[in-house]
Amino acid sequence: MIISKQKPFEEILESLKDDTNIYIVGCGECATVTQSGGEPEVAEMKAKLEAAGKNVVATDVAHSACHELDMKRIFRQNKEAAGAADAFLVLSCGAGSQAVREGTTKHVAPGTDSLFVGNIKRAGSYEEKCSLCGECVLDEYGSICPVTRCAKGILNGPCGGTNHGKCEVDPDKECAWVLIYNQLKAEDKIDKFLKIQGPKRFNAVQRPGKLDVRDEEKGAA
Ligand code: SF4
Ligand code: SF4
Repeated sequence: MIISKQKPFEEILESLKDDTNIYIVGCGECATVTQSGGEPEVAEMKAKLEAAGKNVVATDVAHSACHELDMKRIFRQNKEAAGAADAFLVLSCGAGSQAVREGTTKHVAPGTDSLFVGNIKRAGSYEEKCSLCGECVLDEYGSICPVTRCAKGILNGPCGGTNHGKCEVDPDKECAWVLIYNQLKAEDKIDKFLKIQGPKRFNAVQRPGKLDVRDEEKGAA
């Protein structure tokens, strides 16, 4: 899921300084789980904005704020409020803010910072384990990603700074290469650890990313 964190309220107010009538959009998926833009956070933001002298014309927690057609549909259904709004404050990831962008020509203010794609460790605790490199090489590394989990992204490690299993860059974190070694040993695949891996194809995914499954299916037919 996309891990996002609400911006400081002062920063949000500053971005809305020229706007009086605000339409708040939240997200029922990732931002709900990360508590940056679910129902409670949207209600709390409404109260804080009103206390700061703003007029909140509407609030909506979309099923998925990154769904562009859905956002357009929501604004069509709430035409009056969308028309009255000076600005849309979006409490979801940056993809959500840009889905709202597709649905209005008015000011769209992101209310969160998007941090990473995260695994859920437990409620409220997330860790980045995949950085979406476009060509997954996990099988070479016991399904522990060196691209993301080694602080230096070393594909033929370790770096030499490992200290009692911890990373020299951040001693609170496990060294990814110790984890990789232990996992490959447990699988009796230590030959993979000794193999020299070639350079990674970092152009495997191009930015901005784009995928149309229907085009892929047509190509395969
Ligand atoms: S190799 Fe790439 S796709 Fe696979 S887990 Fe690592 S970053 Fe993600
Ligand atoms: S100590 Fe381990 S995780 Fe940290 S940079 Fe070196 S190899 Fe990577």
